[in-house]
Amino acid sequence: MNKKHIAILGSTGSIGTQALEVIIEHRDLFQIEVLTARSNANLLIEQALVHKPTTVVITEENQYAYVKDALAPKGIQVLGGSKALLEVVQQPKIDMVLTALVGFAGLTPTVAAIEAGKHIALANKETLVVAGEWIIDLAKKHQVNILPVDSEHAAIFQCLVGEPRNRIEKIYLTASGGPFRGRNKEFLTSVTKADALKHPNWVMGQKITIDSASLMNKGLEVIEAKWLFDLSVDQIDVIVHPQSIVHSLVQFQDGSLKAQLGLPDMKLPIQYALTYPDRLPNRFERFDFLAHPQFSFERPDMETFANLALAYQALTAGGNMPCVLNAANEIVVAAFLNDEIGFTEMSVIIGETMQLIPFVKTPTLSDYLAIDQDARNITRQLVTKKKKVYQIEK
Ligand code: NAD
Ligand code: MG
Repeated sequence: MNKKHIAILGSTGSIGTQALEVIIEHRDLFQIEVLTARSNANLLIEQALVHKPTTVVITEENQYAYVKDALAPKGIQVLGGSKALLEVVQQPKIDMVLTALVGFAGLTPTVAAIEAGKHIALANKETLVVAGEWIIDLAKKHQVNILPVDSEHAAIFQCLVGEPRNRIEKIYLTASGGPFRGRNKEFLTSVTKADALKHPNWVMGQKITIDSASLMNKGLEVIEAKWLFDLSVDQIDVIVHPQSIVHSLVQFQDGSLKAQLGLPDMKLPIQYALTYPDRLPNRFERFDFLAHPQFSFERPDMETFANLALAYQALTAGGNMPCVLNAANEIVVAAFLNDEIGFTEMSVIIGETMQLIPFVKTPTLSDYLAIDQDARNITRQLVTKKKKVYQIEK
């Protein structure tokens, strides 16, 4: 097998570092061409010295000189700024781009990679939330595979291998329920960011950890699933499974259910996306049935965790609404992490933003960029208003 040449966008994050752990175990199969980070210059330098990419990008310009001084003498090209991401993903040698950066920032580099004919290992779910239909069409046009890294979607994808002629009746995305499962609204009003950052089963970046606590992560995943698997809204169900062992399920038209199971470890879906259709041997911990004698399932509480309901609402409305939902969510999560608003105010502000932005049925890529900015501005204003009240009540 020829070596696969990989670019990792967001190599210093939770997914990025785990991808490098997978890759280092299979040095004969992979060559890292590009690594990128926003601001963690020291880790980026360390990774580059081990993996010897052709190019690294640090998007925060004030770190550029520091990274350049460390890596240019080693023959590694160093670029700075977000625009450089659009350039580097197009390098001729690259076969696959792993999009492991957070948020809307993943959209345009993914577009550039698809247009250059690169296969995508997609961790950055926000790309499909914002512009799913548009991205899937683009990928078809350029005959590019989009391989899901998100564990639920990797599970569905694996259940569908060998079933090209068989129709899906519905899918079940499993959700851990997060640290506040079973709690009511009143409880949620007083939770802190430290409480919200304690995920019971997964260790992840801050934004997705807050999204998991608020169930927005599951909402974003419902939208991601719609576009990845070409489903209607009513074919996508969420079921809470606190053990996080059943990673998701497909129900076919004959009523048969297929599920993919495993320990909660992102290295497995990352590896499968990088090596599909092959399964490589590895030394990851194996599942022990006796250590997990019980699985349980419950309905998500969409009244308390209103974000999940808002995501279904955005998907049902279609057009620009998922983009608005995503932009508003990015702003409120940052505001919550910054102690500007409380946990339950996040959903209230997202809902208000969705009311205030006019509906656009079929946005173009430049429309998405503008809508994202408009929604962010409105959400910021709403945050500022709430912030005053929040500070007084505190
Ligand atoms: P993280 O915060 O740990 O890492 C993010 C990486 O992207 C870092 O390398 C950071 O430098 C870079 N980055 C962040 N913002 C950027 C920007 N504006 N421009 C350029 N680079 C930027 O995040 P993570 O948990 O690894 O998540 C990455 C993506 O994968 C997210 O979309 C998340 O929803 C998805 N995902 C993560 C997990 C997980 O277990 N962590 C699971 C499923 C899906
Ligand atoms: Mg997931």
